[in-house]
Amino acid sequence: MLPEAIEELISQLSKLPTIGRKSAQRLTLHLLRQPEFELNEFGNAVLNLKKNVTLCQRCFNFAESDLCNLCQSAKRNHRLICVVEDVLDVIAIENSNEFNGLYHVLHGHLSPLDGVGPDELKIAELIARVEAEHDPEEVILATGTSMEGEATATYIADKLAGGNIKVSRISQGMPIGGDLDYADSLTLRRALSGRREV
Ligand SMILES: [Zn+2]
Repeated sequence: MLPEAIEELISQLSKLPTIGRKSAQRLTLHLLRQPEFELNEFGNAVLNLKKNVTLCQRCFNFAESDLCNLCQSAKRNHRLICVVEDVLDVIAIENSNEFNGLYHVLHGHLSPLDGVGPDELKIAELIARVEAEHDPEEVILATGTSMEGEATATYIADKLAGGNIKVSRISQGMPIGGDLDYADSLTLRRALSGRREV
């Protein structure tokens, strides 16, 4: 019914999370009305996404070189490590302005039913990092409050127990079962400032 180029874009956009076929149709027609240079910029942004982005070798946040901007910054407290499930959590915590340390991004949480064990996450890298740091002060476990997030925090706390580093867990007050990036800044600030040693 429609030219193939239009059908193709509709079908590509439909694959995106939260975008159903109707939204994909609307977005495609919207794009079709834009000037060509805008579409070129849009297309280039998509093409460059993988080309110019890598993972930070220290914290596994997204980066443009070996180390991400946060790990390179002298303004951050390098003795504090906040462990999160994914990069969206880094953005959420940064927006809360409560934390000035560095992060460690696990890229998921333990979920045996989905085949995600410790080896699928950046846990061994975290342990090695803590051991290699000069004088680490605290590891803050800021995984989500879902069952999987709690299990992940407990697993890491056990692995770090016995070392001379303080390990803490963000406080209750976070919505139970919630992902960090859905929590508002105030809730995140409270959860971080009210963290408890485990
Ligand atoms: Zn980094």
